[in-house]
Amino acid sequence: MPNSRTGVLLPLPVSGPYDYLPPANEPGGLPARGTLVRVPFGRRYLEGVVWGEGAGDVDAAKLKPIRDVLEAPPLPGVLCDFIDWVAAYTLHPPGAVLKMALGAPGALAPPETTTVLRRSAAPQLPRMTEPRQRVLDTLAERERAGLGLLGAADLARAAGVSAGVVSGLVGAGVLEPVSSRREFAVPLPDGDSPGPVLSDGQRDAADALGISVSKREFEAFLLHGVTGSGKTEVYFDALGQAFKENRQGLVLLPEIALAARWPERFEKRFGVMPLTWHSRMTPAARRNVWRAVASGEARVVIGARSALFLPFPDLGLIVVDEEHDASYKQDEGVAYNARDMAVVRAKLGGATVVLASATPSLETMENATQGRYQYLHLPERHGAATLPRIDLIDLKRHGPERWYGPGGPSGEDDRGQVGFVSPPLVEETRTALAAGEQVLFYLNRRGYAPLTVCRACGDRIACPHCTAWLVEHRGPGSVPDRGGRRLLVCHHCGFSRPVPPTCPSCSAEGTLFPCGPGVERLAEEVAARFPEARVVLATSDTLRGPAEALELGRRMTAGEIDIVIGTQIMAKGHHFPLLTLVGVIDGDMGLSGGDPRAAERTYQLLHQVAGRAGRAGRPGRVFVQTLDPRAPVMQALRAGDPDTFMAVESRERQMTGMPPWGRLVALIVSAEDEGAAQAVARALGKAAPEAPGVRVLGPAPAPLSRIRNRSRFRLLLKAEKGVRVQAVVRSWLQKVKIPSSVRLQVDVDPVSFL
Ligand code: ADP
Ligand code: ZN
Repeated sequence: MPNSRTGVLLPLPVSGPYDYLPPANEPGGLPARGTLVRVPFGRRYLEGVVWGEGAGDVDAAKLKPIRDVLEAPPLPGVLCDFIDWVAAYTLHPPGAVLKMALGAPGALAPPETTTVLRRSAAPQLPRMTEPRQRVLDTLAERERAGLGLLGAADLARAAGVSAGVVSGLVGAGVLEPVSSRREFAVPLPDGDSPGPVLSDGQRDAADALGISVSKREFEAFLLHGVTGSGKTEVYFDALGQAFKENRQGLVLLPEIALAARWPERFEKRFGVMPLTWHSRMTPAARRNVWRAVASGEARVVIGARSALFLPFPDLGLIVVDEEHDASYKQDEGVAYNARDMAVVRAKLGGATVVLASATPSLETMENATQGRYQYLHLPERHGAATLPRIDLIDLKRHGPERWYGPGGPSGEDDRGQVGFVSPPLVEETRTALAAGEQVLFYLNRRGYAPLTVCRACGDRIACPHCTAWLVEHRGPGSVPDRGGRRLLVCHHCGFSRPVPPTCPSCSAEGTLFPCGPGVERLAEEVAARFPEARVVLATSDTLRGPAEALELGRRMTAGEIDIVIGTQIMAKGHHFPLLTLVGVIDGDMGLSGGDPRAAERTYQLLHQVAGRAGRAGRPGRVFVQTLDPRAPVMQALRAGDPDTFMAVESRERQMTGMPPWGRLVALIVSAEDEGAAQAVARALGKAAPEAPGVRVLGPAPAPLSRIRNRSRFRLLLKAEKGVRVQAVVRSWLQKVKIPSSVRLQVDVDPVSFL
């Protein structure tokens, strides 16, 4: 019997839809695709989504009915289609993708109710005291201002009285409790609010986007413009168009850019703060945003990559800002690239998608060249601001001098400390500081030193659970050897231990020494070389949330800081008018290793860091310290010539069949037992597909061969562009049985090769 059963997709990482009978209490038959339901599953009840007709592969007598239909807006059909698409493309189960889309615990529960207090119609007022009067005045004021009712504690706080005063008024019958749904009001952005007058080039780009939004058809754009060229102003204009047409907009930003001043800027333009979506939200905030998006009330969300899976019923515009950023790729769980999936989401929903960047990825450039994306170019910075000049400092010729604590060498055998700032950069810094300007030292290494080595035996201290060296952390402002905590931390698993007094390997005493630069160590040197300067550290250890990032921005703009030492958290989204000098301490970092995109990535990151200098009237200068000034990426930075560099990169990738000219799928096999992982990896290697245009490399131990006590092996499938890799991989995996102790992660279009 067809149509008597329905498939329900559950948010479990193992499943496709399961069959259920229609709910017993709904005579209307099968609920529509997207309907949120609760179903019996084993001994519990789970929330799931009606996915379509049942598969019919289970005996009808064993089927159970859907328990009930939830009081929640259904998932839009386009989101269901998107989930299926992402699952098929990434080779992850649709249930795992659904889990991301329902990613708000309790999002499906109806809004909570809460008890608030209102003025009763009591005929007679009791004895009034001054605090009691203040409570009544506060209530009256809030009513005049159109503000909602409050619960007892909030009302007492608003009136500035003790809780007892409020409960006294309740006892006297002047205030009465009523129950209220805790609704979440979403302020509407004003699409008509005028932005700045756009330059001709900006206007053309904004018009192209605006027209596209009005057409209500899928179109993809690359918005390519140097930092400060007005890309944000241009896509704000297009967002305004979407708001005017009552459609929704989504802006994806790299997570750390969210912490900066972006939401504030949006508020200035559109009059309201945007809703945001990121990994550090409270469950209540998640539920509110999820529901406001589903009901269509939320016109705009600014979010990290997972915002792509929110249930927008009418999404008109998606912006992927800093589209080249590697953080759009998720490696754990469902391995997907939010940049690429944003294009898919736009296609399924008839929306406009804009990928914006100063340094577009080769993949996106190639899509523009092929005409799949329309190309919009903003070649110049807005107004008088010019791009900073980038100079290279050859560390082989200008090695950093040693430095001493206050008062110089303490005796004849004080050989001072190893330095990381070269003499030319020291000079430039002095000049900038003398002119009252600010300096950024960029070093993408948290902690004090990346390596701790024993002078006696040469041993380096590694994590007991991972193939990784432990990184020394002293904490900002700590005084080493005088109570400052010296910890060795694993950046992969979080393991930590104090720096031991003796070498764990040879037991020699006092022989362990830090090796290489970290931002905390750099801070010591900077404090010694520029004793007058006010120095701050800006890393994910010191800036933990938006409030701290805002405070840093305020102090920078107010001129309360002279030198910032920052990791990549400082590379993005910040705008400091007084900052004119950027010194990149280790320009070569990230160039080594087996990542085919290493040079491209280095270019993008250093270009972005350089863009922090001289964004207002004052010209900026950037110095990149390098051991290899002749490397193509360094020459391209110096010459300000990304086109030639990218052309060379592109030819190299074409010759080696790397993306975007070939396709890659990585398989990562891991298990606590090394032998078990290796056996599966070998079996996969033996069963490797032998289709034309397909090659399998490996298995080989992963560069990070052990993480969190799990041994890891990698295989890499390389295919020619036209090959449908999903089909190839699916039949490959069917040939190998994987025991439950072994985990297999499939990564289509891998970005990380660790
Ligand atoms: P991008 O996103 O390309 O880095 P922004 O949109 O942030 O560039 O613009 C850089 C700065 O220039 C911002 O402060 C922005 O407000 C300002 N700006 C850009 N275009 C205009 C314009 N047409 N009129 C006034 N200010 C502008
Ligand atoms: Zn570890």
